[in-house]
Amino acid sequence: MSGGVHHQESLAAAVGLLDKRALLEEEALCLNVRGRAEHCRRCANACHADALALSPDALDVDRERCTGCGGCVPACPAGALRLSGFSPVRFLAALGGETHKRQHSRQALENQWRGAMC
Ligand code: SF4
Ligand code: SF4
Repeated sequence: MSGGVHHQESLAAAVGLLDKRALLEEEALCLNVRGRAEHCRRCANACHADALALSPDALDVDRERCTGCGGCVPACPAGALRLSGFSPVRFLAALGGETHKRQHSRQALENQWRGAMC
């Protein structure tokens, strides 16, 4: 395989990792569900896409609307929302065409990431 093709495939794999960010909700932690009353709307107020539906029974994310921006995550005082993962280590591994190799040196990759950011 030529170096150019290999580089393109690695780039595509790395970009694919960026696309996989998704909002993960842990409904049982939501203050409304725990208190059986809808008093908190902080996450919904922070959402630009109107993607969250709140009730005393559920915390529902409309996956069609949600862009995975993460804007609602810091708004939640209960830690019920988080964003699935962008990982600098996995991103760099994919960029280097190493998605199927075991990473022997996590520290080396993290140092590489810091170097790339400088
Ligand atoms: S991740 Fe962004 S779009 Fe999705 S629910 Fe949270 S604030 Fe809304
Ligand atoms: S901010 Fe957190 S606790 Fe409040 S409604 Fe949203 S998920 Fe529930």
